[in-house]
Amino acid sequence: MTERIECQTPGCSATILPATAAKTGGYCMPCHQEQQREEQRIFIEQNRKEVDLYEEITDPVEVLRIMHTSRRYDPLIEYVPYPLNREQLYTALSLEEAERMQAYALELLEAGDEDTATEILASLVCYSGKLLDNCWLELMEQNVYNPAILFKDAPPSIRNLLLEKVEIHSGNRNPLLLALAWIGDEAVVQQFLEWRRAAPEWAQELYVTPERYAQEAGWELTAAGERRDLFARKNYAMERMDAPLEAGDQASEAFVTVSHQQCPWCGGQLTTLVELQKGHPALKEIAWDGERLAVDTCVICGSYSVIYMEVDPAGTPFWSKHNQRPDYLPDINLDDYGQDYLAAGPLLSTAESPRNTYHSAVWGIDPIVSQIGGHPSWVQDAEYPVCPCCSHTMSFIAQLDWGQLEEYGEGIYYMFSCAKDRITATLYQQS
Ligand SMILES: [Zn+2]
Ligand SMILES: [Zn+2]
Ligand SMILES: [Zn+2]
Repeated sequence: MTERIECQTPGCSATILPATAAKTGGYCMPCHQEQQREEQRIFIEQNRKEVDLYEEITDPVEVLRIMHTSRRYDPLIEYVPYPLNREQLYTALSLEEAERMQAYALELLEAGDEDTATEILASLVCYSGKLLDNCWLELMEQNVYNPAILFKDAPPSIRNLLLEKVEIHSGNRNPLLLALAWIGDEAVVQQFLEWRRAAPEWAQELYVTPERYAQEAGWELTAAGERRDLFARKNYAMERMDAPLEAGDQASEAFVTVSHQQCPWCGGQLTTLVELQKGHPALKEIAWDGERLAVDTCVICGSYSVIYMEVDPAGTPFWSKHNQRPDYLPDINLDDYGQDYLAAGPLLSTAESPRNTYHSAVWGIDPIVSQIGGHPSWVQDAEYPVCPCCSHTMSFIAQLDWGQLEEYGEGIYYMFSCAKDRITATLYQQS
């Protein structure tokens, strides 16, 4: 039997074969690898260069072009971040600069880089509400309809082309209907209404009725045949600060706190996701009657099912009798669920002024999308719950991005209301 040798690292109890020792200088493999990693780390630290891609660049279009260019990761290069973020740059673009961005996106599209092209165009629409008037024909020519918000506010000429296409292009109806929903003008509303009265033959190929596509663009066709928006125009970001505000400063709002009651399904304590007091600027904008609003849910069961809460006149939410425990809800052991997310609540604060309504309408453009009001960021298909009292579609009021609360948190909690019946609802989506 070959005699084994002790590893050279003081305190390491591993023993190794002489052949290994010859290769590693007397160290066991884990110690040897650790040494190599350390050497690599020191090498990188001593040789890493700072690179400022934006040095002496003042043209915001050029800055954005650099930002949208992906670079291979190189541990020896540390890129200096630009002092402004994408949202700030896009919102400050002049009309002429926005046109140059559109032209650049079309160049990329021509060259086959559809992902970057649509990312730029979606940023123009979502961050700054700019019209893509130079792009619609080209996008249709190239068969690019995703994300459909690129067609938002397109004029009658484009809408008519889309309406023609929808009748003839059987393989492409889904994106065409989405684009029409985003245009959502009077003619689209009329057409959706006609399709509801007499379903076209091709409607049976769809998973939902044609007029249901409206919800993907944040509106619905009412029973009376009118357009009704399902969200508030003003969009207040919920930002995460480094430290909680001084007590008192935050009196008009609170986020992610422990509620006064328990979940009847799992026995855990409910969580108040958002609480706004009377007079809060964001509260005036959303579908609520202006008094205190608190949206409760069970953050365990609520990821499986819509959860309704009934809010009493004082603004206190209670578990609704309309909640129906889904059959697929698993047996829940509360010990399996941590509560680290509660620590982030005091760090959240609503922005002083609203951002663009559609800032987060394309999920993935902005990595963090918590907000009150505005258009929701659907991770999956749009899903507006129905009020269990009046059977109307509930309005979107807020969303909380779990990625903002926990290091490995993911998914979004969406919040809805029926102001008339004083009912709130939550649902959860993740990728
Ligand atoms: Zn060792
Ligand atoms: Zn529960
Ligand atoms: Zn209702």
